[in-house]
Amino acid sequence: MILQIAIDTPLRRVFDYLPPPTRSQEPPRLGVRVLVPFGRQRLIGILVGISSESALPAGKLKSALEFLDEKAVYDPVTFELLRWAAEYYHHPIGEVYAAALPVSLRTGQPAAPTVEDWSLTEAGREQLALPDSRRAPQQRALLAWLAQRSRATAAQVSEAFKPALLKALAARGWIVGHVSESVGDFASLEILPGELALTGAQAQAVDTILATLAAFSVHLLFGVTGSGKTEVYLQVIAAAIAQQGQALVLVPEIALTPQLVERFRRRFSGGVVVVHSGLTDGERRDAWRAAHSGQARIVIGTRSAVFTSMPRLALIVVDEEHDASYKQQEGFRYSARDLGVMRARGAGVPVILGSATPSLESLENAAGGRYAKHLLPQRPGAAQAPRMSLLDLRRHASEQGLSTPAIQAIDQHLKAGGQVIVFLNRRGYAPSLFCNSCGWVAPCAHCDARMTLHRRALKLRCHHCGAQAPVPAICADCGEGLLAVGQGTERVEETLTRLFPDAPLARLDRDTASARGSIQTVLDRVHSGDARILVGTQMLTKGHHFPEVTLVVILDADQGLFASDFRATERLAQTITQVAGRAGRESRPGEVMIQTQFPEHPLLQRLIAEGYESFAASALEERREAGWPPYSRLALLRAEARDRVGLDSFLQAASQVGAALNESTVKILGPATALIARRADHFRAHLLIETAARSSLQRFLGRWLPQVDALAGPAGLRWSIDVDPLEVD
Ligand SMILES: [Zn+2]
Ligand SMILES: [Zn+2]
Repeated sequence: MILQIAIDTPLRRVFDYLPPPTRSQEPPRLGVRVLVPFGRQRLIGILVGISSESALPAGKLKSALEFLDEKAVYDPVTFELLRWAAEYYHHPIGEVYAAALPVSLRTGQPAAPTVEDWSLTEAGREQLALPDSRRAPQQRALLAWLAQRSRATAAQVSEAFKPALLKALAARGWIVGHVSESVGDFASLEILPGELALTGAQAQAVDTILATLAAFSVHLLFGVTGSGKTEVYLQVIAAAIAQQGQALVLVPEIALTPQLVERFRRRFSGGVVVVHSGLTDGERRDAWRAAHSGQARIVIGTRSAVFTSMPRLALIVVDEEHDASYKQQEGFRYSARDLGVMRARGAGVPVILGSATPSLESLENAAGGRYAKHLLPQRPGAAQAPRMSLLDLRRHASEQGLSTPAIQAIDQHLKAGGQVIVFLNRRGYAPSLFCNSCGWVAPCAHCDARMTLHRRALKLRCHHCGAQAPVPAICADCGEGLLAVGQGTERVEETLTRLFPDAPLARLDRDTASARGSIQTVLDRVHSGDARILVGTQMLTKGHHFPEVTLVVILDADQGLFASDFRATERLAQTITQVAGRAGRESRPGEVMIQTQFPEHPLLQRLIAEGYESFAASALEERREAGWPPYSRLALLRAEARDRVGLDSFLQAASQVGAALNESTVKILGPATALIARRADHFRAHLLIETAARSSLQRFLGRWLPQVDALAGPAGLRWSIDVDPLEVD
C-alpha cells in the first residue's frame, strides 16, 4: 500500500510514502493528517490517495510516521473541491489543502476538542452504588475517586489512571469529559421570525428558491441597493437549516458590515459562528470545530470561509457577489464566489449570489439560463430610488475638487438635517508633490510611481510598495518650493472642515481604519448622527445602511473611464451604483451628484438614465465584440525580477515553449510590461493566455506549466499563474 500525501510545499505534486510501521488493521481514511519525514524535517501532510504502486523504486520510499486523525478533517465535498481547485487554478496541491485548515490544525493540534476535566455521571453514581463484585477493581477505583470530587482536571486524572480506562468508562456513559470552547453554545438554536413583511418580489424570490432546496441550482438575486436582499437570505436560510442543515454565508469584508452579522445573530440566536482574519488561532480552531462537528448551523465568513468543513451543508449565500475581494490576489489565486458555486454543485444544494450590481459573468450566466435570476426592483416601504445627476467639472468653478453646485447642495442638505457622503477613491492628502518651476514630481525610489503626500503623518508614501520618505521642503532638482497637486480623502476632509466648520466630519479609508475597532467608531459616529459628513474611499461601498444620508457626492468619476483594463468600466459602474445606493435609504429622498470632465460619455449617460442593468447589457455587448470574458477564457502568467533583460528572456522562452505545443485555439499574448513597470525594485511583466473554451485553456496549462517550471530564469525570479484573472495587469 502506497500513501499519496499532499504536503504544504510549492511543488505541484503529491508525495508517496509507505504506511507507518505501527498502525491499526483498518485502512486509513482519505483526508486525515499524516506526520511524515521530509528531507530533514518532519511535516504534516494530508492523505489524498492510496495506490498500489509508486513511480519511486521500493528502496527509495520512506515510511510515514503517524496518522494524526482517525477521521478526515474535511467534509467529503470540500475534500473533493480542494482537489478540483488545485487542478483548476494550477496551484500546488499541498498548499491548497493546507489553506483550508486553521493554523492550529496545520501544526498538528488535535482536531477534536481536548478534554479539560472529568466528572461522574448519574449512571456512574448508580454503578458505584451497586454491590462490589470485585471484578474490574480499577474501574471501581476510578469511579470512587471521581465521586469524591465534583470535577477533576485531565492532568490529575492522568496522573492516577490509564487513558484506556477513561475511554472505556466514558464509552459506557459512567463518566463524562468536559471541553471548553470559546465560540459559544450551539445547543440552543432559536430562529426568530422576521420583523418586516416581505414585498411581493421578495416573497416570490423566497418561494422559488425554497422550491429548489435539496438540489443544486444557482440563484442570482439581483436587488437594487436597499431592496431587502438580506431578508431573503434570512428566510431561505431559516428553512434550509430547519432539518439539522448548515448554511454558509460569504461576505466581502466582516469589519465593514457589523450590521449584517448583528442581524444574523439576532435572528438565529445560538447558531452563528463568524470566521474572519481578525480571529486568534484558538478562536479560528474553535470555529472550525463547531462547523466541522455540525454544531454551528450558520457560518458567516470572508473569502477563505468557502473551505470551512460543514458536513451538513444545505445552502450557500454569496453576498455582494461582484466584489473583487472574493478573488485572492496572491499565492493560491482562487475565486471564492466561483468555488462557492462548485461547492454547491458538489453538495447538491442551492447557492444564492446576491448583488445590486452583479458581475457581467453572472448576468451572462443568467441570460444563458444557467442561473435563475430573481429581481428585487424596489426598495420596501417609503424609500425611493435616489435622483442622480452629472456635474460637468469643465463648466463649474471648483475648490479643491469640490464644484460650486456640489458645495451648495451639501450646504442645503446639511441645513435640512440630512447627512452627506463624499466619495473619493484615493486616500492620502495629494497624489503628487510637484515643482512648479522645473516640473519635478516626487517619485518612489523603488517603483515607477509617484509618492502620495500624507500631510497629517508628514510623510510621502508609495501606495504600491509601502515605501516612506520625509516630505522635502524644496525641489530636489532646482531648489524651488513644492506644490501638493490633486486631492486625496485627507485633503477633502480639510476642505470640507473649512467650508462647513459646524458639521462634524468622519473619514473612512485604509488610513483611518488601520487601528483595531476604529471602523466601528467611525460607523457609530455616523449612525448616532454625531458625524454629519462622511468622507471615504471604496470602503464606503460595502453594504452600509445609513438611514439619514440624503446626499452622496462622487468627486471623481473619471478614474475608471479610460483605464486600459477591460473590467475598468464594469468596476466604475458598480462603484457609482453602490455609493449612490447609500443615499435615501428610508423616508428621506436621496440625491446623488457625480462630478466628471466627461458628462457626455455614453457609459455615464446610460448608467444615469437607465440604470445598472442597461449599462451591463451594453457592456456585455462590447465584451462580446472584443472577445473578452465571459466570451473567452483567460490566464495570466505574471513574472517579476530585478534583472529586466533576464525577465524578458524568461517570458520570451515561456512564450516559445507554449507556442511549440501547437494548441491552435490558444493565443499567447505578450510579454507585456505591467502598468507599474517596476515595483519594490522588481521589474514586472506578463503573458496573457486567451482561448474560447475553459477545456482548451485547462489542457494547455496542464501541458505548458511543467515546461515553464523547468525553464531557467534570472536570479530571484518570481512567477505565478492566475486563472480567470480579475485584472490583466
Ligand atoms: Zn524644481
Ligand atoms: Zn514604491
